[in-house]
Amino acid sequence: MKKASIYGLTIEQLTSWLSDHGHKKSRALQVWDWLYRKRVTEFAGMTDVNQDCIQLLNENFVIQTLSQHIKQESADGTIKFLFKLQDGNLIETVMMRHKYGLSVCVTTQVGCNIGCSFCASGLLAKSRDLSSGEIVEQIMNVQLHLDQMGQDETVSHVVVMGIGEPFDNFENLLNFLKVIIDQKGLAIAARRITVSTSGLANKIYEFTDTQMQVNLAISLHAPNNELRTQIMKINRAIPIETLMESMKYYVEKTNRRITIEYILLKDVNDHKEEAEQLGDLLSVLSPKVYVNLIPYNPVDEHSQYQRSEHESVLAFYDTLKKKGINCKIRQEHGTDIDAACGQLRSKQIKKAEAQ
Ligand code: SF4
Repeated sequence: MKKASIYGLTIEQLTSWLSDHGHKKSRALQVWDWLYRKRVTEFAGMTDVNQDCIQLLNENFVIQTLSQHIKQESADGTIKFLFKLQDGNLIETVMMRHKYGLSVCVTTQVGCNIGCSFCASGLLAKSRDLSSGEIVEQIMNVQLHLDQMGQDETVSHVVVMGIGEPFDNFENLLNFLKVIIDQKGLAIAARRITVSTSGLANKIYEFTDTQMQVNLAISLHAPNNELRTQIMKINRAIPIETLMESMKYYVEKTNRRITIEYILLKDVNDHKEEAEQLGDLLSVLSPKVYVNLIPYNPVDEHSQYQRSEHESVLAFYDTLKKKGINCKIRQEHGTDIDAACGQLRSKQIKKAEAQ
């Protein structure tokens, strides 16, 4: 049987597990200090932890379950990692540099069942959920990479926007968030973490009720049901009206701003008419709403979609602004590497299949 990743345990879970196995509770804090501050990669490196405890941890857990398969570096400092899991599956993790800090985009599932029509990841159906340890480990591996480079930098922001629908792996997502927010561990502030969903409304209510104060982003991509269903089949089951109600709930309960992700697809959803409809739709959330306009990164698998003309992007932006909606055209990262989400992974899988 494969051993579990130690990163999957919150401090409370590790404390109670160690206590159940005859060790004093303070031992958990010691172990966490070695994991998250001193960042050892082997239990044997925890030099002030007694040998009985080291042996117990070794028998039941592992620190590293991911191995680096491919690393692509962009001229702008973006790094895309393709990690191999213990079962041989591949997942993508991206590190991006911004003026405000260093962010990591994590994956939550192997493949995805949501099947958005523009997405390279959605072509490969979900084969399993990632454990919370496997999600934490993606951040730890990026941090270890920075440590090895001798760059005195730490991961300051996290976006849960990689492959998979995070709310379809809800319990592991919550555990992961608890681990990375904890002051005794990585201590990444909740306000610096964003979870992005395709719009699983029932989970948006549950997520709001956790009162974690983590940011929420919604992949909307269309202002009306007809168009959204065409782009995202999930809209058939959860139409925009249902989604809007859950978004209102999040904003009212948390008093936090919600982010709307809108990928601009040429001649599909980038007309003035759609910008006006979007402005009207979101006005009930304003000013607690913010639209991220994302220029589309074309992928071979979806030749029906092209990138919007720059003029159309600017016109869309202007129309939203005139409607009083906060918005921004997203700055692109890693355009000289496989920039689209899931692109690197799907290329590698195709390559392996062809061999
Ligand atoms: S965009 Fe996200 S939710 Fe949609 S198919 Fe891709 S990974 Fe899944």
